[in-house]
Amino acid sequence: MLLEVENVIKRFPVRGGFLGKPTAYVHAVNGVSLHVKGGETLGIVGESGCGKSTLARLIVRLLAPDAGAIRFDGQDLVACSRSALRAIRRDLQIVFQDPFGSLNPRMTVGDIVAEPLVIHDIGAGGERRRRVEELLTLVGLSGDVAHRYPHEFSGGQRQRIGIARAIALQPKCIVADEPVSALDVSVQGEVLNLLMDLQRTLAIAYVFIAHDIKVVAQVSHRIAVMYLGQIVEELPAEKLLEARHPYTRALLAAVPIADPTRRERAAPLGGDVPSPITLPPGCPFHPRCKYREANCLTDPPALLPQGPNHRAACHYVDKVLADILP
Ligand code: SF4
Repeated sequence: MLLEVENVIKRFPVRGGFLGKPTAYVHAVNGVSLHVKGGETLGIVGESGCGKSTLARLIVRLLAPDAGAIRFDGQDLVACSRSALRAIRRDLQIVFQDPFGSLNPRMTVGDIVAEPLVIHDIGAGGERRRRVEELLTLVGLSGDVAHRYPHEFSGGQRQRIGIARAIALQPKCIVADEPVSALDVSVQGEVLNLLMDLQRTLAIAYVFIAHDIKVVAQVSHRIAVMYLGQIVEELPAEKLLEARHPYTRALLAAVPIADPTRRERAAPLGGDVPSPITLPPGCPFHPRCKYREANCLTDPPALLPQGPNHRAACHYVDKVLADILP
């Protein structure tokens, strides 16, 4: 297994009062477990505030978890030394949502793309310049844009520059945190196609994070649905229309379905995600769930098998199934 995340927990203190002591905690990630094989894409989907971006930063160790294990290529990312982590980062890269904010406006595109090569002391002079041109060409930009600055490019082009920097060290895995959500719809497809082309050419695995279930379904082999810091359903992308968790059904209900023989009977989501400071007891989805029963308010449902590679955390999947079966 390339990436394994086991029972990872991350809380952030809310400081206030005398001497800025913690008065509460934001429960951003609450016991998440997942895995990614080499060359596959695991999509993680959920509304904003569900902990996806925190999970992305935990996976690449920009944040340290409070509890749990993260292993990459057999190496322990939580306990490893700073120098070991630096070496692992050659193989584990991240692409951020905001292609402008993540590129230094004072550096040329060539310097931005070359930065990982410089940090890891790979190549020099002309060899490094040729590699940068090769990378820019690989992401659909011309090699001769290397002397220009980020502000001279469109959003889609800037995201291509971010991707060129992420693949510079030929990583085994890229965590892509909302990589297309800041882009126009017309450009989103081009960047998604680029990511999929690079996966075919370079056998890169992706953890692809987005709030749009349609986008996630387009690029993923497997999908994990996240709600209030927990995975509530995990299933193969081709089985997405057979999802059994009420939250996944509600996300699907917001998307127009191309197949006229299928009718989505779940209502699109109402209300907001509850505060991650005061988590609801029992099932975290119960305040918004139309299927809830009394025990949902007290008993947290376990993530249980529903079929091959399919797990869902709901006490009443039978009621959901009765609603969605033709
Ligand atoms: Fe809804 Fe209960 Fe299932 Fe939670 S466990 S999703 S509240 S039916």
